[in-house]
Amino acid sequence: MPELPEVETVKLGLNKLLPGLTVKAVTHDWANSFPNADADVKKFLIGAKIKNVRRRAKVLMIDLSSEHSLVIHLKMTGQLVFVGEPTNTYFADRRSYIGEEKNQSTNYDIQSTTEPTARFGAGHPTKSLIGELPDRSTRVTITFIDGGQLFFNDQRKFGWMRLMPTNEIMNIDFMKKVGPEPLEQNFLAKNFIERLYKRQNSNIKAVLLDQSVIAGVGNIYADESLFAAGIHPASIVKAVPKKKLELLYQELRRILQLSIKNGGTTDRNYVDALGRRGNYMDMAKVFRREKQPCLTCQGEIIKIRVAGRGTHICLKCQKLYKVRSR
Ligand SMILES: [Zn+2]
Repeated sequence: MPELPEVETVKLGLNKLLPGLTVKAVTHDWANSFPNADADVKKFLIGAKIKNVRRRAKVLMIDLSSEHSLVIHLKMTGQLVFVGEPTNTYFADRRSYIGEEKNQSTNYDIQSTTEPTARFGAGHPTKSLIGELPDRSTRVTITFIDGGQLFFNDQRKFGWMRLMPTNEIMNIDFMKKVGPEPLEQNFLAKNFIERLYKRQNSNIKAVLLDQSVIAGVGNIYADESLFAAGIHPASIVKAVPKKKLELLYQELRRILQLSIKNGGTTDRNYVDALGRRGNYMDMAKVFRREKQPCLTCQGEIIKIRVAGRGTHICLKCQKLYKVRSR
């Protein structure tokens, strides 16, 4: 399942493409993937113009001119693929990306009449990101008057795309319960520590993964930030020195930002909205590195179980803070 940096990467990519496009038609083949009344779809989606793409925790929101929004959760295997007319934005991005990647300029010519169709895949990595669409995994197809189509593909059908009034999104149960965004500018170290202390008797990894404490942190970024801060994931929150929690706050934010900058990553080969593979995994210091040497002390990275999840640690670099019994 994608974590915060991956969904943020999808948002950033789609935000360059979708705003300004007007919806012409929508088809779907699985009611649970698109749980919306036909009357609402006709009234609030068809003919509406896309204003903006937003993210809250791991949920994407496409805001429409009808004061409604498409709220999207990719869950385990969801992906969004835009196939459309080439635009200058696309080529500008594509060019700078390829330029960076290969450290040389490319042969794309914006004036060329043989431009390939613009295509942007984001989400769970399957052949559908690059193959002909719609295909067997396509649950929803949105066609735009301006040209182009947005495909919501989801093999396992856990994801969904819900149409609802924009001003009601924040009343969904999930939105009311979910914790603050760790990268918000006004989310300070003291706020972070306050949130962790809501579960001060629990182990710190379980608390980081709790979406009602902080939004969007999953297994990869929990392990990486705890390693960077030198805290054993099974440490009890209230036993960890405040200075260490401040360091954890800084490291978590630094690592999330670094990952977004690098197109995110997930367990598998995640592909962002420009078809780039997230390469944060190449920078991971402990995640999926069991039996390899620690990059700090050369000790062995081991895999244990904490909070019911596979957890990667260096026993030398990460201290276990326990509550002293009297
Ligand atoms: Zn180490």
